[in-house]
Amino acid sequence: MIYNSAQKEIANKIATSSKLSNWKDWRWQLKHSIRSLEKFEFLTGIKFDDTERKELEKTFEKFPLSITPYYLSLIDKSNFRHDPVFKQSFGSVDELTTLQSELEDPLSEDKDSPVRGITHRYPDRVLFHVSNVCSMYCRHCTRKRKVGDVDFVPSYDELKEGIEYIKRTPQVRDVLLSGGDPFMLPDDKIDWLLSEITKIPHVELVRIGTRMPVVLPYRITDELISILKKYQPVWINTHFNHPNEITASAKEAIRKLADGGFPLGNQSVLLADVNDCPRIMKTLLHKLVKNRVRPYYLYQCDLSEGLSHFRTPIGKGIEIMESLVGHTSGFARPTYVIDAPGGGGKIPVMPNYIISWSTNKVVLRNYEGVITTYKEPDSYEPKMCDRNCEECDLELKISEKDEELEAVGIEKLLADNDDTISLVPENNERFQRRDDNE
Ligand SMILES: *Cc1c(COP(=O)(O)O)cnc(C)c1O
Repeated sequence: MIYNSAQKEIANKIATSSKLSNWKDWRWQLKHSIRSLEKFEFLTGIKFDDTERKELEKTFEKFPLSITPYYLSLIDKSNFRHDPVFKQSFGSVDELTTLQSELEDPLSEDKDSPVRGITHRYPDRVLFHVSNVCSMYCRHCTRKRKVGDVDFVPSYDELKEGIEYIKRTPQVRDVLLSGGDPFMLPDDKIDWLLSEITKIPHVELVRIGTRMPVVLPYRITDELISILKKYQPVWINTHFNHPNEITASAKEAIRKLADGGFPLGNQSVLLADVNDCPRIMKTLLHKLVKNRVRPYYLYQCDLSEGLSHFRTPIGKGIEIMESLVGHTSGFARPTYVIDAPGGGGKIPVMPNYIISWSTNKVVLRNYEGVITTYKEPDSYEPKMCDRNCEECDLELKISEKDEELEAVGIEKLLADNDDTISLVPENNERFQRRDDNE
């Protein structure tokens, strides 16, 4: 039996009639999600004193509470204040602290939104918010202020608007369904949405970001798998943050997805007192790859409101990366990224491995601290690229569409066919003076 004693106890308290038979029914789990302090106290037997209760009530008024019975069952009640599941799902009064550096929309997702629901930040892919709700409200959510806000539940028409935008934007080859959790939508809506999106000729693949395997693994039903299978290639990214979350039920959900043929990735957030430890992180990553999930990103915690108690210095992330590079399998290592406040996108960050450089030698260090040199080639004929692939002796046969993409950013500075010398910030005074003098 997959049920453990914690699950039995919670199920018994929730309903004396339906009980355990429904435990694995995801709709039952949603219906009985823990959304109040009283229910949390009743189901766990944990009691807070009056002062803390008042503060907690205030917290949940601002940032609502929602925990699935399944995820609740993972909390170690005897040591709950230090429990990683408790910290991610129940939260704390620290969320009421707002720092000046914190923002409601730190990633400017709304500003980079051409139509409701779409964030178009990168040249060839878009983020499509198809749902505003989740089965469990992560206390570290970057879209914390929007979660559970009914005004943001996308209607059928709004979803259609997003689809229309993708249709008329041929650069978009990769559509990332996000939310909220896309798997909160009913099966038929997921079916419809995927069929509409994958019909678009220039869309090469769809990605789905979901935390269901972690917080409500029973959502990954055979029916859902058979729907998703119709629309391959579908890449799926999930969000495990701690090894305790990789339970028998979670493994079963992951196994179904992997057997369904969907490449699986994992995005973790670096969280103080949850996973800010190289040993915890390595255990998590090893468990993930053992279950066929490839670690994708490790995020620095965003500057969203109410997350200050979760944030670590960037140095902690670099220290964790240092403990991984060379020390474990390359494919067990995520890319550590900082999502630039203001909408600059994800910026990868790594420890430094290049120590010095001359015209023909590079001095590098490895993970053990061994310092080594790489002798560069004496004769390397650079290929000047004018982006005319027909004439290049690499003889790339590139399609029309790829040729159209212009070099962007630093890539532009490096390009041979572009004479841009520098990138200048807007409103640079020195350049304004030049203009004035003309
Ligand atoms: C993260 C993100 C993507 C996807 O980025 P990848 O690096 O390709 O995974 C796309 N759009 C937005 C707005 C994002 O935040």
